[in-house]
Amino acid sequence: MRVLNKTGIIKNSLYFKHGEGLRHPESPERLKAIYEMLENPDMSWKFTEIEARYAEKEELEAVHSASYIDLIAQTKGEHRTILDSDTIATAETYDAARLAAGGVIAAIDSVVSKETNNAFALVRPPGHHATANDAAGFCIFNNIAIGAKHAMARWGMKRILIVDWDVHHGNGTQGSFYKEDSVLYFSTHQSPEYPWSGSLNESGEGRGLGYTINVPMKVGADDALYVRVFEDILVPVARSYRPELILISAGFDPYLGDPIGGMKMSVEGFACLARIVLDLADEFCDGRVVAVLEGGYNIQGLTRSVRAVLMEFLGENRISGQMLEDLSRKADLRRDSVIEKVRAIQQEYWPVLAVQK
Ligand SMILES: [Zn+2]
Repeated sequence: MRVLNKTGIIKNSLYFKHGEGLRHPESPERLKAIYEMLENPDMSWKFTEIEARYAEKEELEAVHSASYIDLIAQTKGEHRTILDSDTIATAETYDAARLAAGGVIAAIDSVVSKETNNAFALVRPPGHHATANDAAGFCIFNNIAIGAKHAMARWGMKRILIVDWDVHHGNGTQGSFYKEDSVLYFSTHQSPEYPWSGSLNESGEGRGLGYTINVPMKVGADDALYVRVFEDILVPVARSYRPELILISAGFDPYLGDPIGGMKMSVEGFACLARIVLDLADEFCDGRVVAVLEGGYNIQGLTRSVRAVLMEFLGENRISGQMLEDLSRKADLRRDSVIEKVRAIQQEYWPVLAVQK
């Protein structure tokens, strides 16, 4: 019998309180549907619940300015505060956002201290668009960046890989580590699309040169192209980098039925991406992976995709190497030459990407 992983999950009903009563695509119903799926008797016993905690002010300050944190704190108890054209705080947003960032920290602590093998922080509001001084794109605090900073400060991590497969570019996360080599930020995203950043030549600065890898993809990318991009770019680079911890900005808005994104990923496609990342983690960092929920607005697609990813995390399902190979061979590279373009730019920093002649 196969031994399953001990997979941790972060869930908390306070996350429902952010944006309660608003008509907004990033709604509490997203998490409610995921939690309901997890409460099913087939599922509930499989996971280890990790208790979320509030991120401390100093932990938020590792990514955000004190004045920005104060601004968000002042929204507490206020009915509605407009922060950006599509980001609104409600009375309990500040607490929910602190608990989202702290939930990611708790998940990282659990995995690094080996209480669990891997974990998925099922939190909201999402985080990857939040910058040092601004809320943006439904995001308040940058949960994954705060988590990475914590892993560096508390656990002395020097090589953290962040894989961001949300359909949007994680401009806030990229900006948090643009000049650092202790975090390698890898993002696949639809382009052109909000937030209009994440071009090929954004590859880091100073010590951080080469530690930002952007893969802007045309609308309509499917499982085959995503898997091919992961196999041809992420895998060789990660093998050179040898991460100590892998974090995933797990957005499910590349799903084919998503009302915001224009990609064509299937539920199984997300499981494939998770399997590639988990295999890398097995190879280099004792399987340590923490996924953090970002976008995903087709609630049924979101819930099924989260479930499929969790099955890979547990090891109850294992997408085979053969299947990944078959799928990646089907990628229509004439449609999108992004792999060649990324190689051309990044091979200066990652010789392994030099095209074999
Ligand atoms: Zn998104």
